[in-house]
Amino acid sequence: MVSVAPPRVPFLDLGEVNAPYAEELKAAASRVIDSGWYVLGEELHAFEREFAGYCGTTHAIGVGNGLDALSLILRAYLDRGVLAEGDEIIVPANTFIASFLAVTANRLVPVPVEPDEASFNLDPTHVEAAIGPRTRAIMAVHLYGRLADMTALSEIARRRGLLLIEDAAQAHGAYWHDHKAGALGHAAAFSFYPGKNLGALGDGGAVTTDDDELAADIRALRNYGSPEKYRHDRLGGNSRLDEMQAAMLRVKLPHLDADNARRRAVADAYRARIRHPHIHLPAAGAPGAHVWHLFVVRSARRQALREHLAAHGVQAQVHYPVPPHRQAAYASLRELSLPLTERLHAEVLSLPMAATLRNDQVERVVEACMSFAGGP
Ligand SMILES: *Cc1c(COP(=O)(O)O)cnc(C)c1O
Repeated sequence: MVSVAPPRVPFLDLGEVNAPYAEELKAAASRVIDSGWYVLGEELHAFEREFAGYCGTTHAIGVGNGLDALSLILRAYLDRGVLAEGDEIIVPANTFIASFLAVTANRLVPVPVEPDEASFNLDPTHVEAAIGPRTRAIMAVHLYGRLADMTALSEIARRRGLLLIEDAAQAHGAYWHDHKAGALGHAAAFSFYPGKNLGALGDGGAVTTDDDELAADIRALRNYGSPEKYRHDRLGGNSRLDEMQAAMLRVKLPHLDADNARRRAVADAYRARIRHPHIHLPAAGAPGAHVWHLFVVRSARRQALREHLAAHGVQAQVHYPVPPHRQAAYASLRELSLPLTERLHAEVLSLPMAATLRNDQVERVVEACMSFAGGP
């Protein structure tokens, strides 16, 4: 008897993600090796121009990772006196902990607010209600690759005199009308962690902004507070996107839109074909406004569903099992009651999602979901 093993579907296979570009990546790596210049050079400057051009901002500043990108934005505003220690920053309660860490690392105070249940993103009504005398900024996270409601949030920020900062670490290439993620607030942070929609082959990040002064400040802060060699005007750090990662990203940036289109096709297939009383599908939102960094379903029977999928060769993951305010690191926030956030964290399950998923793998995920009996 000949049996064909059904395709296994790993949650994310980074080798496969980079395989289509392997020859180009190797050529770019050779170029960097042979150049003899590895930090703050031509590859970085070219990538910064190309990424700013892609996002539609005046500036892109390459930094060490996404957390540093967020943190340096806040740090630059603190240095300039736009923010002061103890100021409050409104953040979504249901985000990856990095959004909070950037705030607390700068001695600012995160004020978590409940999301809009349909979009998983900041709910403008809750944001407005959370604004107090010390509120200075809104940090909008485009969670799972879907843009937050930036029209409403911009309007609130303008009316209340607040900064609007994007955590765009999951949303490279998402757009709303003519504007892309990274160009929808005063400043934005991107991560190029390997698993993001635009991923390096190591750590990387960037800040995008149209603010010339902020850009100059962040360029100095990422490099020892140094606007020119051996002149140190302020207490900076070291967080630079290196030449090798910049070169890798220059290979991959031109393919980002096609990759996002494929993610959309996979999401469309999941959304059209998975029909199950115990699996609630995510909403797509406006065209272009979702780049499906993650495809997150909800189920009251998550653990049983996850085990069922695993038994059928489909690897699902949870983003994220515990919200920041319930982490040991944030004992100070433990008393907060955020019931919707807590329920979401108990129910969310991310199905495999990548631009490299083949149709037979998509098929397998759909079938595995459909054969779920409902569990105990
Ligand atoms: C990945 C991520 C970050 C942090 O990026 P790193 O490059 O891992 O430091 C921040 N915010 C969100 C929402 C992320 O998904």
